Amino acid sequence: MSKRDYYEVLGVARTASDDEIKKAFRKLARKYHPDVNRDNPKEAEEKFKEINEAYEILSSGERRAQYDQFGHAAFDGSQGGGAGGFGGFGGAGGFSDIFDMFFGQSGFGGRQAGPEKGSDLRYDLEITFEQAAFGLETEVQIPRTEDCSTCHGTGAAPGSHPETCPQCKGTGQIQYAQNTPFGRMVNVKACDRCNGEGKIVHTPCKECNGRGKVRTRRKIKIKIPAGVDSGSRLRVAHEGEAGARGGPPGDLYVYIFVKPHKLFTREGSEVICEVPISFVQATLGDEIEVPTLDGKVKLKIPEGTQSGTILRLKDKGIPYLRGQGRGDQHVKVKVLTPQKLTERQRELLSEFAKACGENVNPEQKTFFKKVKDAFGV
Ligand SMILES: [Zn+2]
Ligand SMILES: [Zn+2]
Repeated sequence: MSKRDYYEVLGVARTASDDEIKKAFRKLARKYHPDVNRDNPKEAEEKFKEINEAYEILSSGERRAQYDQFGHAAFDGSQGGGAGGFGGFGGAGGFSDIFDMFFGQSGFGGRQAGPEKGSDLRYDLEITFEQAAFGLETEVQIPRTEDCSTCHGTGAAPGSHPETCPQCKGTGQIQYAQNTPFGRMVNVKACDRCNGEGKIVHTPCKECNGRGKVRTRRKIKIKIPAGVDSGSRLRVAHEGEAGARGGPPGDLYVYIFVKPHKLFTREGSEVICEVPISFVQATLGDEIEVPTLDGKVKLKIPEGTQSGTILRLKDKGIPYLRGQGRGDQHVKVKVLTPQKLTERQRELLSEFAKACGENVNPEQKTFFKKVKDAFGV
């Protein structure tokens, strides 16, 4: 990896004063501080390292002089030859302390005492088409962590109590001072005596081994509203994992998956259904029975119905998830052409054709005219 010039990294001239270097460093360090760059922490971390390294060299008169004379080779044992004295710089010494200060305790894995909300849980629930349409109440079993009922989450055996940690006085944190290029800074880290809990258990609860938490499978009643669809997500407040140090539990999210139906498909709140009819029913018209979510209903097939016609059954669709009312059912008519005719049927149809004679359907007439126009035959 070729290293960038330290002056370039800090964006200062080679003649920059100590003060200018310090200012440039502070500005850049703030800009690339990992707490500010949540979107791209990896890149910020790299950048931050580079800035710190450059400052570490240029802020010291002696090191800066070495760097001005020998470049990066001054600090690299393999190339430097004689100019050494700062061997093994990469991450050691003062620099790494500053670095840990930012990446260790300040937001990256630094345990903070005080109440912490439990994690949210996800549960995938498969339901039928009808259940999605009309809703249901059901019970689901959720594996989760709960406060131990024997010790009520304290971790201390019944009859005993957890003691406030004497090292951190129950705060779970200890403060320490550190010298950095920014000046003297007071830093906070998790108390090592109580692991940031603020309390020490002397007689652990036998049920949970002093952890205060147990794994269980909890039955939870849930109510699925009418009109949900695959992809709907339901939030059940406070039914997630237990919180820590008195924090509230997380939430439970139920994700809905709707099984396909044998007869119906769905578009939003509209139900679509295909119904086969005979060509005689299509020609003469009829009244047929059609399945709906509410059972069978009568549907009038008008005389001369074409295959593919969509007839509407009002208010037989899915109830709206929000608000009153429901969608419609759309019945797509499929006209069946008769197959395997008997002799008698064949005779009758031939007779029917003769009776039609020259009386060609206007739609056919138009089509034949188009063919003629297109091909000249
Ligand atoms: Zn317990
Ligand atoms: Zn403590």
